[in-house]
Amino acid sequence: MNDARSDRIDFLEQSYIRHMSRECERVGGINLGQGLCPLPSPPEVLESASDAILEDRSTYSPYEGVPELREALANKMADHNGLEIDPDEELVVTIGATGAFACAVHGLFDPGDEFMLFEPYYGYHYNTIRAGECTPHMVTLEPPEWTITRDQLEAHYTEATEAIVVNTPVNPSGQVLSRDELEVIAGFCRDHDILAITDEIYEYFVYDEREHISLATLPGMRERTVTISGFSKTFAITGWRLGYAVAPPRLADPVGLVDDIHYVCAPTPLQHGVARAMDELSDDYYRKMAAEFQERRDSICEALEAADLAPYHPEGAYYVLADVSRLGFDDSVDAAMHILEEGGVASVPGTSFYHSESGRDLVRFCYAVEGDKLREAGDRLQSLA
Ligand code: GLN
Repeated sequence: MNDARSDRIDFLEQSYIRHMSRECERVGGINLGQGLCPLPSPPEVLESASDAILEDRSTYSPYEGVPELREALANKMADHNGLEIDPDEELVVTIGATGAFACAVHGLFDPGDEFMLFEPYYGYHYNTIRAGECTPHMVTLEPPEWTITRDQLEAHYTEATEAIVVNTPVNPSGQVLSRDELEVIAGFCRDHDILAITDEIYEYFVYDEREHISLATLPGMRERTVTISGFSKTFAITGWRLGYAVAPPRLADPVGLVDDIHYVCAPTPLQHGVARAMDELSDDYYRKMAAEFQERRDSICEALEAADLAPYHPEGAYYVLADVSRLGFDDSVDAAMHILEEGGVASVPGTSFYHSESGRDLVRFCYAVEGDKLREAGDRLQSLA
């Protein structure tokens, strides 16, 4: 008998994001751990997908996605991201943004290639790079500003560096990368002739009049960038698993080929559903959603401050990192379990987002839940000893 597990995934363990959901269910807590986003989806999205199912629009699509969705996405990329793309050659619809990232890693890189990754990072980026037999090099950013400098990037560059992973707005810190920071990254990519993979899944979740900027719009970046996003967060359909990658044809082609061998295509009725809804929804929908999430952010930050669990104020996305050192634990897993067992609120241990020790005093709370649940969770945190 072999040991069943392939060497490629020998390092892999169940993520704490998932683990904490299971633990939360066990104790019947409020889940501010995994970013489930159990909020109502826009009726336009639900009705158009239901129509597509009832109309039996259910056969495979091209692996790059149904033409209606690619068309809608090309319009969205032009209007929202400032990127003119060819929907036939430069876009692949995938199984979530996670699927897009995996297809990019497997389609574009060789074993031994090195990636640069900002820490705190999203664990699925880190683990997908490793599962692709590539090596992530962490560039640790310091709170509360999480500033990115050229010196830091140079310090981690090696001859084997092939790409940098960018995520803005950032899961878990809520940082929204400024134009200056993106210019630092762009200059670094151009000078070393490396690729960028940018995960912009939280692009509509930016607060306090900040602006989401797509890295691919910076000079010289379009030809070397894979831009990833999806619908999970924007339409609160995390379980539909619909995302996409935008890239020039030489990069989009391999991403599409890997998407095909793994998945053939994303679920077609859901693709049709999102395509029609994108045409029906006005800018108002996205504006209102960001305003509602800004209120949620303020509500959780206020509660965390009152609970003496100092939050790092997020500028975007829907997570907040909080300093839980006053609880007196050496390890964030123990702190998160204490918060769940004693307070009835699930979070994700900070160490899940760090390779270094820096996450030990942190936990991440997700605030993509209804206001009354969030207030109840805030009250519970404040009564936590
Ligand atoms: N992106 C979400 C999070 O960070 C969900 C991830 C997941 O369930 N794998 O919590």
